[in-house]
Amino acid sequence: MRELVIDLDAIVENLNTYKKLAPGAKVMAVVKANAYGHGMYEVALKLERAKVDYFGVADVDEALHLREGGLETPVLAWLHDPNDRFTEALEANVELSIANLEQLERVADAARLTGKVARVHLKIDTGLGRNGSTIEDWPALVSAVVALCDEQLLECVGVFSHLSTTSEPDDRHQMALFDEATETAKRLGLDFELRHLTASDGTISYPDANFDMVRIGVGLYGLSPFVGHTAAEYGLRPAMTARALVTQTKRVKAGTGISYGYMARTTKETTLALVPIGYAEGLPRNASGKAEVSIKGKRYTIESRIAMDQFVIDVGDDDVVAGDEVVIFGDPATGVPSADDLAVAADTINYEIVTRMGGRFYSTYLGAVD
Ligand SMILES: *Cc1c(COP(=O)(O)O)cnc(C)c1O
Repeated sequence: MRELVIDLDAIVENLNTYKKLAPGAKVMAVVKANAYGHGMYEVALKLERAKVDYFGVADVDEALHLREGGLETPVLAWLHDPNDRFTEALEANVELSIANLEQLERVADAARLTGKVARVHLKIDTGLGRNGSTIEDWPALVSAVVALCDEQLLECVGVFSHLSTTSEPDDRHQMALFDEATETAKRLGLDFELRHLTASDGTISYPDANFDMVRIGVGLYGLSPFVGHTAAEYGLRPAMTARALVTQTKRVKAGTGISYGYMARTTKETTLALVPIGYAEGLPRNASGKAEVSIKGKRYTIESRIAMDQFVIDVGDDDVVAGDEVVIFGDPATGVPSADDLAVAADTINYEIVTRMGGRFYSTYLGAVD
């Protein structure tokens, strides 16, 4: 009744598009947050078969979930709280980002306990003001890492940072600091096999800054990383289609109030169609009055209030009956609204739209690996 159709072949095509955009660099597929709502396990399995170089996730739990599913591709987790399961992470060959001395101590303890050499990537905050070591703390962190590498508790695989994408000068400043930090580390005795900085947007904007690996999230799912630009401009194809079947239609008189608060009232006799998708599925309530959906190729605006379980559209005298397919969003090349269209209607970005889809949607996969 409510379905997210995930085209895994589109995701592999998008991976190949990014490989061409970043020749010579490895690609880390960012599959955090349930692969931006697309299904982490199914997406990761497909990408592993397509020989992706790395997986990236936010936290250790997500990385362990991949390992429990039998995935073997290197995986990096970068957002840790003090209770995160570093011991289990090392036992499962999960690579860890290190942002400060406290995390470094804990990873060294986990290495001592398990007898495993921890593979780490140092995270430097070059100006996003989020995760990572400050420039000031960097030399002390690097020196401590060098000491633990000498003890053979650690292997320092990578160094990474993340751009704010505020403006080109801001990003260029971050790149310069990233280079400096790498140089500082080198002087202190640390060399990195994998330097990685850019995500879906920076990989396109700054081909000169792709370093050894690029970390691709939203672009893999076929969405544009740039507001106001379509995915098609970059040769990317959206992988997610959200759809449902009309549950009921009825003829009503002019002046009928529709849904909570009567945001809309009919102006003439018309047909109302009820669609079983609401904010419980992630359809943003504040898109009421703005979002469009598609039935048999025709667009209808959701003029009335989106509720928890359902919304109503006025289809006029069109031939719409229970069981007809309603597309909430999908690939605009097929004439349906895009995730970007819904994002504009809800005053957010396409990333949030796909990631928040859930609730009673169930996912089906095209091109699934058996
Ligand atoms: C989420 C994330 C990415 C992926 O970003 P996209 O814009 O979706 O490509 C890359 N790096 C880090 C550190 C992230 O948190």
